[in-house]
Amino acid sequence: MNVFVAGGAGYIGSHTVRLLLEAGHEVTVYDNLSEGHASSVPVARLVRGDLADLDTLTAAMRAKPYDAAMHFAANCYVGESVTEPQKYYVNNVSNALNLLRAMRAADVGKIVFSSTAATYGTPVATPITESHPQQPINPYGRTKLMFEQALADYSRAYGIGYAALRYFNAAGAAPDGTLGEDHDPETHLIPLVLYAAMGKRDQVSIFGTDYDTPDGTCVRDYIHIYDLAQAHILALEAMRPGDRRTYNLGNGSGYSVREVIDTAAKVTGREIPHNEAPRRPGDPAVLVASSEKIVRELGWKPRFPHLESIIETAWRWHREHPDGYGD
Ligand code: UDP
Repeated sequence: MNVFVAGGAGYIGSHTVRLLLEAGHEVTVYDNLSEGHASSVPVARLVRGDLADLDTLTAAMRAKPYDAAMHFAANCYVGESVTEPQKYYVNNVSNALNLLRAMRAADVGKIVFSSTAATYGTPVATPITESHPQQPINPYGRTKLMFEQALADYSRAYGIGYAALRYFNAAGAAPDGTLGEDHDPETHLIPLVLYAAMGKRDQVSIFGTDYDTPDGTCVRDYIHIYDLAQAHILALEAMRPGDRRTYNLGNGSGYSVREVIDTAAKVTGREIPHNEAPRRPGDPAVLVASSEKIVRELGWKPRFPHLESIIETAWRWHREHPDGYGD
């Protein structure tokens, strides 16, 4: 297939682009490089452009006969979405709708969308299945849910097929150590824990120690970036016109912030300096997925289901690339 990948130079996008190419698909990456890294994708496949620029976007999408789009070009920080909601509504909703406009203009009928566990809000049942109520508790989750709703309406009215993949906590790096996580500023737990192990940061803060969880810290379901990327290929290849699919992506096991720190200490053989800090606004206590649906329907089989192996690949990336992509 010929695939148009918006945001393909970011963390999840770049790993997916690599697997798309390995699976024999044609890929064009459309990315404004605001957060992505040019060196994380093959240079010949990169078109630099912004979703806000509808003319450039539409021209890029008309340049080749694309079979499908993938959409990774969103802002993804829960905390920032609370303090800077405008950025999230503009980029994750308004600019993202441009992608749907361009798809219609270029007659591209399928899309795989990066959605999130944050669309569920505070769980009323665990593990979370796809039919769990979606009542997000932060602007990030709300903007992602709005786009899911737009996809459903576009599908009903115009017949587009979509798969919304609701990610739990993406982590880890390419097993060969050549692609990995490099956000600026970094806010995600696992890279920050490893930065503390490396001495790149003095310490990592534990956001909240009074949650209703076994050790008082937040519990999350960490999923390896390779397994996440693989799910996109499966969703793309299975999709038919008019499909409306949603899949959770996690491993079904929850780890607390303290457990992440302890596992990282074991993997790295180093002490992880840490301190206790107040809760971060917008964080539910526990988020754990049931991913049975994608296992059953698409045969998804995670290769790195355990936290330890996820952290091992992340550690290799950060050790070998202490400055990330260096750009
Ligand atoms: N977290 C933390 N200290 C940090 C960053 C994150 O304690 O410096 C916690 C955060 O409150 C959440 C979990 O780690 O409970 C995972 O956060 P992350 O930002 O990695 O992913 P999110 O769950 O927001 O997608």
